[in-house]
Amino acid sequence: MPYTITLIPGDGIGKEISSAATRVIEATGLKIDWDIHEAGMSAIEKYKDPLPQAVIDSIARNKVALKGPLTTPIGTGFRSVNVALRKEFELYSNLRPAKSFDGVRSRYQNVDLVIVRENTEEFYSGIEHYVDAKRSAAETIGIVTRTGSERIIRFAFDYARSHGRKKVTVVHKANILKYTSGLFLDTARSMAKEYPEIEMNDKIIDNMAMQMVINPHQFDVIVTTNLFGDILSDLASGLVGGLGIAPGANLGYDTAIFEAVHGSAPDIAGKKIANPAAIILASAMMLEHLGESDAARRIENAVAAVIKDGRKVTKDLNPDHCVSTDEMADAIIEKL
Ligand code: NAD
Repeated sequence: MPYTITLIPGDGIGKEISSAATRVIEATGLKIDWDIHEAGMSAIEKYKDPLPQAVIDSIARNKVALKGPLTTPIGTGFRSVNVALRKEFELYSNLRPAKSFDGVRSRYQNVDLVIVRENTEEFYSGIEHYVDAKRSAAETIGIVTRTGSERIIRFAFDYARSHGRKKVTVVHKANILKYTSGLFLDTARSMAKEYPEIEMNDKIIDNMAMQMVINPHQFDVIVTTNLFGDILSDLASGLVGGLGIAPGANLGYDTAIFEAVHGSAPDIAGKKIANPAAIILASAMMLEHLGESDAARRIENAVAAVIKDGRKVTKDLNPDHCVSTDEMADAIIEKL
């Protein structure tokens, strides 16, 4: 039986990298019926709505989606469709691995850490406003709940346990944000007792940013609130060679959306130079989620082999000798 999966190609470089990903997935021999829908800027142009009901209905039906990046206007305009989808389907866990690949010119080798970011609460609540008509001040309300903290911290410890990882680092700012970050840290300290075989430590966000840059090897699983997790996962991808190789999964109770960590990269859109590896690695995470571990491993190994070889990779990985998005996807398919 073929899988039916919602595909949102996305904005900017979205279409280029999504078509590379679907070609790679199909090359594993799996049969997929893609339920294709527009969201974001392209949906505004067509339907005057960045998140048409048809997109929500499709994901609700299929329970699994592969999503290209969606543009969110900065400062004005419509609210993030990414945030709306995470809220709509209660995708409370944003899993973002950062792993070194042989052959990537990056600051570090042998980094293998996983960021577990709370994905629905705190400063991404969308509850914000100017305090007066003159816009002299603005307020954003960041709510951290005990239930929200418990479920993401449990996810992190369970992930560590099931993936043979040894340590969970809880990142917070509880010295200043005594209630919101404090609640998150307290919850983690209590829950850690249920996982005696896993070491737990905690770091204040500012020190954490410095520690990750100085010695990322000291970290294993990192769990944190929404905004800190968003920032640290870009930082982590920078440690291992950039956004072009950083995949992510948004996981809820019964629905999951897989995507690259990066955005729609308007600066390189249409140039056919975007690295498709991040969304292809996100596709491997999706296949793992569907129970297709063999196909997932094959894709990961093929991506790793092409990156290690270094001759058929995009400009971000090898500026001196690079190929197009499609040619890199072809090389990955060949390695499969
Ligand atoms: P970005 O991630 O799009 O780009 C940052 C830098 O990384 C750019 O120089 C870009 O060229 C480069 N880059 C990103 N992906 C790449 C790839 N696959 N290959 C090679 N280089 C790549 O971040 P931004 O410019 O801050 O954001 C652009 C838009 O994307 C914004 O509207 C933002 O809201 C949106 N965004 C969406 C998502 C998402 O859909 N999940 C995530 C982040 C940002």
